[in-house]
Amino acid sequence: MTDTDVLIVGSGPVGSAFARLIADARPEASITMVELGPQVSTPPGSNVRNLPPAERDAARERSQGPQGALSGDRERTLHVEGTVISPGGTYLASPGHQDGMPAAALSSCVGGMGVHWTCATPRPNDDERIPFIPEAELDAAFDEAERLMHVTTLPENPYGRAIKELLREHFAGTLPEDRLPDGLPMSAIPQPDGSIRWGGADTILGDTRLDLRTETIARRLVIEGDRVIAVEVEHLPTRARETISARVIIVAANAFQTPQLLWASGIRPDALGRYLTEHVLVYSVVALRDEVVERAGIDTPVAQLVKDPTASTFGIPYTAGVHPYRTQVMHMADPPFPVDESSVHVGAARFVAMGNGVRKFPRAEDRLVFSDDAVDGWGMPQLTIEYEVTERELAEVERASADLRAVAESIGEFVPGGEPRLMPAGTSLHYKGTVRMGDDGGAESVVDDRSRVWGFRNLFLGGNGLIPTATVSNPTLTSVALAVLASAAVLEELDAARVAEPQSAG
Ligand SMILES: Cc1cc2nc3c(=O)[nH]c(=O)nc-3n(C[C@H](O)[C@H](O)[C@H](O)COP(=O)(O)OP(=O)(O)OC[C@H]3O[C@@H](n4cnc5c(N)ncnc54)[C@H](O)[C@@H]3O)c2cc1C
Repeated sequence: MTDTDVLIVGSGPVGSAFARLIADARPEASITMVELGPQVSTPPGSNVRNLPPAERDAARERSQGPQGALSGDRERTLHVEGTVISPGGTYLASPGHQDGMPAAALSSCVGGMGVHWTCATPRPNDDERIPFIPEAELDAAFDEAERLMHVTTLPENPYGRAIKELLREHFAGTLPEDRLPDGLPMSAIPQPDGSIRWGGADTILGDTRLDLRTETIARRLVIEGDRVIAVEVEHLPTRARETISARVIIVAANAFQTPQLLWASGIRPDALGRYLTEHVLVYSVVALRDEVVERAGIDTPVAQLVKDPTASTFGIPYTAGVHPYRTQVMHMADPPFPVDESSVHVGAARFVAMGNGVRKFPRAEDRLVFSDDAVDGWGMPQLTIEYEVTERELAEVERASADLRAVAESIGEFVPGGEPRLMPAGTSLHYKGTVRMGDDGGAESVVDDRSRVWGFRNLFLGGNGLIPTATVSNPTLTSVALAVLASAAVLEELDAARVAEPQSAG
């Protein structure tokens, strides 16, 4: 039986943040990380957008779990002949069992979704924030999360500056000065040659030393009283099984597979898998008017300046009561779907794709149901997603669509087929709430404000599943910040366990 100080399940940005924080504070501690997917990029967990296109496509396919090449698509088209498929690098979470959330998807690889993500890392605002964590503490955790993720605002090009100017003029007087449209904070490292290295789990891990077990699934947590004493794992290619004993266990295996592992282990509090939320998404595509080029004052073709639309992205933040959505505006030379350019005036500045993320209010009945009999493609309890967008959210969708229409008028016009439309549930890829954090002793929550599972001393969780509030901000920064807050409690538990068993140190 292998023995380790800390065992982390899941190698995404959040598992990686735990590893980094623990290794920095206790360099002598042994850390083992198990990840059911393969390593698809080098260094492990790096963003595939840093790879040349052919390698990127291969890495995406290898992240698509049991569905492999049948899943994600290179163009990221969501609708193919009436079916829903997932973006490249992801695969549908539970085909045949996800009618409530047809687009729900996962990535299975070293680095998790964090090797396929867009890197947007805005902070949440107002009532998006977790109310029972003191403001100053949460802000300090965001500072540390931003440091770990190398969050920055990317340099602007003249077209981007012109778009931003028009957007700011549109919202002037409506939104507070510090909530006006602005460059989106990104996990990214601008390079001296002008290119960008996109952030991934590797950015967070740095040179952290750990024993990374790839293609190794955690099947069950072994419980003794109020502790998890070991984890049963299986190396998938060889089917070799092993039990790894550990002093502290952290499960950061995403909002679907974290509750799945707890369920498989017999840890089944009432709130497990419930209160599932995401960002209800309204999407649109706008052809920019000529004024953008006039304001930019240059004649360089857009394609030369906007090679990666992510590099020219603007955010319009959530502001309670005034702008209860988060708008993401991406400038692009080529539209995300074919556009008949004879039927709409496409200015030389070309296009933006604009989406409004709308709140989903937590309800116990939006939930994952796990089976005690059937298993999924990984041999874990089959999960079924029960989820509904209610009248309450649909009313917000109406307002968010009207908001997008007004914004579009200020910069251009919708392309045919680009008018605001509600995307299938699950499209956001931001699933939250299924192992939610609370200050209620576990009545409607799974973990406390330090991410510790109620009733256990040494079992901590990480990931978007902990986020208990209705939010619209991209969640990864928040989840890394929650790992920062948890890390002091993790270290305290580790130190106590090593005092009790001094032979384990080293
Ligand atoms: C295309 C795309 C764009 C995105 N853009 C953004 C964005 O701009 N901003 C943002 O905030 N978020 C974005 N996201 C979401 C973001 O990537 C996730 O929020 C983030 O990766 C969550 O990190 P995590 O570590 O909690 O989980 P994950 O990254 O999902 O990692 C969990 C890992 O655990 C592994 N695992 C699961 N079960 C087990 C088990 N039993 N045993 C062993 N391993 C297991 C999984 O294989 C997975 O690799 C995007 C996602 C995608 C796919």
